[in-house]
Amino acid sequence: MTGGSNNEEYKVRLGGSDETVEFTLGNSFFVSNENSEWGGGEIQVSVLMTKTHGLISLEFHLRGTLKVICDRCLEFYPETVESRQTLFVKFGEETGEISENVIVLSREEHHLDISPFLNEFLILALPLKKVHADNDDGSSGCKETMIKKLKEHLIQEVEDVIDPRWDELKKLLDKN
Ligand SMILES: [Zn+2]
Repeated sequence: MTGGSNNEEYKVRLGGSDETVEFTLGNSFFVSNENSEWGGGEIQVSVLMTKTHGLISLEFHLRGTLKVICDRCLEFYPETVESRQTLFVKFGEETGEISENVIVLSREEHHLDISPFLNEFLILALPLKKVHADNDDGSSGCKETMIKKLKEHLIQEVEDVIDPRWDELKKLLDKN
């Protein structure tokens, strides 16, 4: 995992006293995000940083909603997500990630861009199957018009695939 260089907003200062940093990830985070499948969202983030024996632990708590694409109708819907993760930061010679959730920062560095981790935690927090929740009456919460359009589109695609072959055949027939 590599950190985006221009994410100044999401850099936390390390090495100071124990503290909690709190902020909200809004649409700007998700729009500038490489994961363009997300249509936006609002996520409350709190990071509790504690220092023990030269190791800094960052306890993340993320909760809120993320606009994701429904697998069934391909429309955006708000998915509720919640995630608790812990990162450990050590200081060493070179910056790098030595194992999952353990990062080494060179001694000259005092800031960590946490945006790639926030991204990763949100991906992990999402359910495998992303679909609109059912309505109260048990019917599908999906956009029916969208499903209809998709079906039509699919039929059109199949026809488009078949048509060129017919054209070739016609050409052959015309020649003879
Ligand atoms: Zn849907």
